[in-house]
Amino acid sequence: MYVNRKRIFDGLFPDAKAFRWKQVIAALFNPAFSGWKDASNLPEEMRTELERRLPWMSVKMALIQESAQRDTFKVALEVEGGQHIESVLMMNARGAWTICVSSQVGCAMRCGFCATGKMGLIRSLDADEIMDQYRFWTTFLREHPDLPPRISNVVFMGMGEPLANYENVRTTVNTWLSNTDLGHTRITVSTVGVLPRLEQILTDTDWPHIRLAVSLHCAIEETRKKIVPTSYDEFLPKLEDWAKRYLQKFGNRRHHLTFEYVMLKGVNDTPAHARALAKFVNHIGNVRVNLIPYNLTGVEFECSTEPAIQEFLEILHTKHLIVTTRRTMGEDIAAACGQLIVVANKPTTENTSSFLKTY
Ligand code: SAH
Repeated sequence: MYVNRKRIFDGLFPDAKAFRWKQVIAALFNPAFSGWKDASNLPEEMRTELERRLPWMSVKMALIQESAQRDTFKVALEVEGGQHIESVLMMNARGAWTICVSSQVGCAMRCGFCATGKMGLIRSLDADEIMDQYRFWTTFLREHPDLPPRISNVVFMGMGEPLANYENVRTTVNTWLSNTDLGHTRITVSTVGVLPRLEQILTDTDWPHIRLAVSLHCAIEETRKKIVPTSYDEFLPKLEDWAKRYLQKFGNRRHHLTFEYVMLKGVNDTPAHARALAKFVNHIGNVRVNLIPYNLTGVEFECSTEPAIQEFLEILHTKHLIVTTRRTMGEDIAAACGQLIVVANKPTTENTSSFLKTY
């Protein structure tokens, strides 16, 4: 059993009124508190018991690394069972921080270009372990007053497939929305495209209407199946149908949809692929495209060349697509997209290189 504070709390205080649990959660997110002893709105006996039995943190820092520019930090966190997950803090264009959180230890999706995919799935994280990644970074920033203090955005683009851990991701996001200053448009769940869960989102009244990004990576079925092995013959028409219904139901400036597209040299970056992507997107309507330069994770793939990316972009622009290109951060600490694989106990050469400061 993993740390699940609700279960422990209910076991300790089966007769507690519902508002007590709310106070417990609020205490966890109170920036002035560093332990249950500070939660003076809880009865003293309860605080004493919580201090003894309810973990204040469900994740434990194993190793922090910082990039040479000090704009990216990566932590390996130990979770119950001795495994590790990674979580990243990145400076954003607003001068605040975006955190990239993990939803699983490893991942079952096995996308060919992603390092996490190579680990396979070890287990899904409990909601406490996901929400505590935000708490870990807020504490870190409090302890580093020389850094800007505010986390303004969260992306579920760390290890794992968030929609394969639907309930825990939903609980986490709802907890953040009620207990932090994060708003709906500042949280993005990125998914490989788990269609049954995407369907569920259309009707689930508890699902928070945060931003969604789907890792499309190719609008030609045959190629997509090669790089995203969970894809199947009817995936693209089904995704198209779902996306139309999603936008019909929720589409507005706040709830737009993004397709992510990792640029792999000679694999999905030719003009024919660009035209297929434009056609697919234009059938759906108001979808944004986020091109991601491929970050090296092995020998199988290379990032598209700069001229190939430019040509690809031009075709998309001619077809009136809204396209952004993702900045790559933290490459020197293997913290960029798709590079998250735990190395905490086995330092790699990246970990030991001299420009890295390890705490
Ligand atoms: N499981 C989720 C989150 C994955 S990480 C998903 O599939 O969306 C976030 C994004 O980084 C995804 O679009 C993922 O496909 C992409 N990614 C994975 N490996 C990458 C790599 N080596 N270089 C660039 N992007 C990568």
